[in-house]
Amino acid sequence: MIEPAIHSLPLPSLLIGGKRLRDASGGEQYHIYAATGRATRGIPLAGPLEIDLAVREAQAALPGWRKTAHRDRGRLVRAIGEAVLAHAEELAAIQTVETATPVAFSADFPKAAASYFHYNAEWADKIGGEIVPAGAGTFNYTIDEPYGVVAAIVPWNASLVAASQVLAPILTVGNTVVLKPSPLAPFVALRLADLALEAGVPPGVINVVAGGAEAGEALVRHPGVSKIHFCGSRDTARRVMAAAAENIVPLCLELGGKSALLVFSDADLLAAARHSMSAMAGLSGQGCALPTRVLIEKEVCAKFLVLLKGLVRRLAVGDPMDAGTHMGPLISAEACRRVLGVIESARHQQHGKLIAGGNRMDGDLADGFFIAPTIFADVDAESALAREEIFGPVVSVITFEGEEDAVRKANATSYGLSAFVWTADLLRAHRASAAIEAGTIWINGMAALTPSMPFGGYKQSGFGRVGGLAGLREFTRPKNIWLRLDAPNERIN
Ligand code: NAD
Repeated sequence: MIEPAIHSLPLPSLLIGGKRLRDASGGEQYHIYAATGRATRGIPLAGPLEIDLAVREAQAALPGWRKTAHRDRGRLVRAIGEAVLAHAEELAAIQTVETATPVAFSADFPKAAASYFHYNAEWADKIGGEIVPAGAGTFNYTIDEPYGVVAAIVPWNASLVAASQVLAPILTVGNTVVLKPSPLAPFVALRLADLALEAGVPPGVINVVAGGAEAGEALVRHPGVSKIHFCGSRDTARRVMAAAAENIVPLCLELGGKSALLVFSDADLLAAARHSMSAMAGLSGQGCALPTRVLIEKEVCAKFLVLLKGLVRRLAVGDPMDAGTHMGPLISAEACRRVLGVIESARHQQHGKLIAGGNRMDGDLADGFFIAPTIFADVDAESALAREEIFGPVVSVITFEGEEDAVRKANATSYGLSAFVWTADLLRAHRASAAIEAGTIWINGMAALTPSMPFGGYKQSGFGRVGGLAGLREFTRPKNIWLRLDAPNERIN
């Protein structure tokens, strides 16, 4: 196993008001490199004390940041994107150590992250409000105002992209932010905030406070927070919603998924099988929009499974630092135990037939948190295996007969983040896309996300959007202003 580039990690700290805090009241947690199970660095965790400090610093920085001319704010947001590109290698290296994402995949993250800063920066001086026809003798208009201090709580997976997707719109429209990364992956967010400071973003505009549930709750309940963006699991979202109810703070929730990949018999089966592999390769199944449920038309299922098994055999699982690796470990020992438990329970309850993997990997990989790429065939569409997010390299293959059955099975989950349709019949592709309850549908292609796409959930995958103008609007609210033009003693209807 190649030694991870621990030297590339920034010194763990909190970043509050432009200052680094090495000690924090929430204690310390060791970051573990998931490929070897060995500790890298101790991370100071924010407690309620540091959360309060961070919100106050964000409040103090707010008037100056709001007053910054739109064009200048846009220029600074763009400069963050430029800095991300200039430090792409370093950020990718941090990402690989932080989450054990194979280098071949983390190498793409900086470009994706930068694109969100570049896209949003373009909007800085192009949105502002509108004139409203509100009756004769009046002048009525709206101003798109920032909320104020935004709490952005991000997950550990693809942490560079997850943080950039929200920082860019939050800053562009004049909010300041307290960003809370997961204690499992605190480094890349810290380096990103450093780069923003170096690019000229004033201290206090971005504050970074790694911490766990206690820090997250304190942030959500803080009376100085005016908007919450939460990206993470459904269970945590329920707690966040309950806590946000205290101060009636608006939320945007980007949650998990159980995305269906529908393969009709007229599809390019090899391309669809390759696409299915993305549910395991790259992120080891630890992504919100991965095609973890493959719905295949019955008559081509046997052929499809042969293709899929052939591809799985060629999947290089192992050292994330090796450029030839396709799939790395899970994030933690706990995640490993949890996913193995799901597999065991699915086998026990006969939710499907295990045709590949299902085990923790041994030999050179025994100390890391590796689970072999796992495929269940003949999966019962109503079972927990088919309906619940697993967040590990586990694919469920389910058969269907005809379009109606395919759509019904695609919708048989409480999630609705995304779906994929593979067919040569484009009319059917559009019909199915209209009928599937999910926020994003990809037809005959891979899950490429661009910053102009409004990405977000239906059903229990959340609400609100990241990306596009909709993603920017998440962080503004219209203030309406009414002005009487006639003499004050005249009545206006
Ligand atoms: P998680 O819910 O465990 O944690 C998410 C964040 O919430 C972390 O920063 C965590 O420290 C914090 N947190 C934990 N308890 C909290 C509490 N009580 N109050 C406030 N904050 C709290 O999720 P995770 O394991 O970090 O990430 C994986 C999940 O995120 C998966 O479900 C995945 O699908 C989802 N996800 C969704 C998207 C999307 O865009 N829809 C993107 C990435 C990940």
